[in-house]
Amino acid sequence: MLAELENLIQLQQADREIQRLEEEIAALPRRVAAIEEKLAGTKAAVEKARATIKADEANRRKLESQIQDHQQKISKYRDQSLEVKTNEQYRALMHEISFAEQDIRKLEDKILEGMLEVELNEKTLKSAEAELKEETAEIEKEKEEARRVTTRDQQELATLQSRRDALRSGIGADTLRHYDRVAKLRRYALAEARDHKCVACQVMLRPQMYNDVRTNQQILICDSCQRILYYIPPAEPEPAATATAPTQTAQAS
Ligand SMILES: [Zn+2]
Repeated sequence: MLAELENLIQLQQADREIQRLEEEIAALPRRVAAIEEKLAGTKAAVEKARATIKADEANRRKLESQIQDHQQKISKYRDQSLEVKTNEQYRALMHEISFAEQDIRKLEDKILEGMLEVELNEKTLKSAEAELKEETAEIEKEKEEARRVTTRDQQELATLQSRRDALRSGIGADTLRHYDRVAKLRRYALAEARDHKCVACQVMLRPQMYNDVRTNQQILICDSCQRILYYIPPAEPEPAATATAPTQTAQAS
């Protein structure tokens, strides 16, 4: 195989691996951010449950003091009832007492309702706190994993980048320019020729062109998609038409 073509195939492999690593490195902070967002939501739920419980308790104290007010009123009415002169006055006081007692019962019902609500909110709080604990542990693990993978990827990336630089120096300037332009436009710039077609765009190659591509001795370009074509000989041993027998297993997906 032409050395330049060999370099191009390896360059494409390096470029695609570099792209994969760069995408992986970029995805990790996004994953951490998503968990952090969830964590913030759980924190807010914990704070809300705590605030609700506090408000309910304050409300209960208010209701209890209202009950006390009514009880004081009742005992005042009872004292007055001992000193009244007429039945009418007495009945009026008894009326006031029964109103006050009704109010107390209403307030007691409200207190009970409030207590049930506090119970419910305490349950909510407990589960939100448990969730928070779990998510906090998860995010630490996730951050640690992100750091580990990022470090590993960056090392691999550095190796690949120097390999890419070396490969590029073994390719002619015009070919390299063509490679870069097509790679930018079509994601990858090399395509396998198989069954008389360009595998990438599926357009038939002219017979002479296909024959030339099969030698792997020239830089040939697909008329349709502009990708640089190469050929992978079938696995079974054949009388080699070319000087070298490439063992290259480049993929052209
Ligand atoms: Zn093509």
